[in-house]
Amino acid sequence: MFVRREPVAASPAEGGGNLPEQGGDASDGVPIAVHPLPSRANAHLDLDSKQHDGLSDSEIQALVEVGEVGFLHSFDAGSGIDGPGLRAVLWTAGCHFRCVYCHNPDTWKVRNGRLATVDDTMGEIVKYRRFWRNAAGGVTVSGGEPLVQTPFVRRIFRACKRLGIHTALDTNGALGAQLSDADLLDIDLVLLDLKAYTPQAHLRVTGQAIDRTLAFAARLAALGRPTWVRYVLVPGFTDDPAEIDGVAALAATWPNVARVEVLPFHQLGKFKWERMGIAYSLSDTESPSRDALAAARARFRAAGLRVVV
Ligand code: SF4
Repeated sequence: MFVRREPVAASPAEGGGNLPEQGGDASDGVPIAVHPLPSRANAHLDLDSKQHDGLSDSEIQALVEVGEVGFLHSFDAGSGIDGPGLRAVLWTAGCHFRCVYCHNPDTWKVRNGRLATVDDTMGEIVKYRRFWRNAAGGVTVSGGEPLVQTPFVRRIFRACKRLGIHTALDTNGALGAQLSDADLLDIDLVLLDLKAYTPQAHLRVTGQAIDRTLAFAARLAALGRPTWVRYVLVPGFTDDPAEIDGVAALAATWPNVARVEVLPFHQLGKFKWERMGIAYSLSDTESPSRDALAAARARFRAAGLRVVV
């Protein structure tokens, strides 16, 4: 996801890729670490630990498929910008989009994350709960794209709801069909990242088709699931007024959209692209001016949407 500040990396390994791979992959020239599974006998997960209980790759894969474990990029105990109130944010590893402006390309590859059990992850969440439970906060699962690991994310949300914790999912929406209607009831708020309006612009910005994201957005609207729309303003890519108006007009038809956030592109992730040796097309792109940002926000407001800065 594109956020306004840097998540704290839990893993030193980086690379590009897609769904969980078996073992390493040197296709991008970067050594890939498969981080060990914390022992389930150990009740406390130290997010910087490298504990190992000797599971094979196929055993880990089986646990991933049922959601008993997941690959995490990092954990933030107290964020004020990832949903309402003060929140714990779980950054999952893995994303199938390749947004030109992504500032966390180190989250793209699932196996670059660190393996964690649901129980230990919940233990970590609960440990920091005192920081945000009196601040109308909760837990946000972000990434990467969290739904690349839907079984794990589903279990985290279920466990949070059992504890009465407010939940939010930050997603590009393309894998939303993997969530059942019952799963969606465990998600109090969806932070839906709409990258573009036209199929051509979406493909250019993300490398992926827009259809599944729009289908998920329409489903959220039909079910009345609370949603905030996020749009990143990138000069030369998403600042075409017609493109903004298209997204705004579409979002205005969804009565479940409570607010819109227009986020300015920034260069905070540039060093990661360079360090990982990935071609970065926005090296010379500047952040949008204050006026351009205000104009984009005005277009969303003109469509009748509530825009929050
Ligand atoms: S959807 Fe994936 S590629 Fe796009 S900004 Fe988010 S993490 Fe990066």
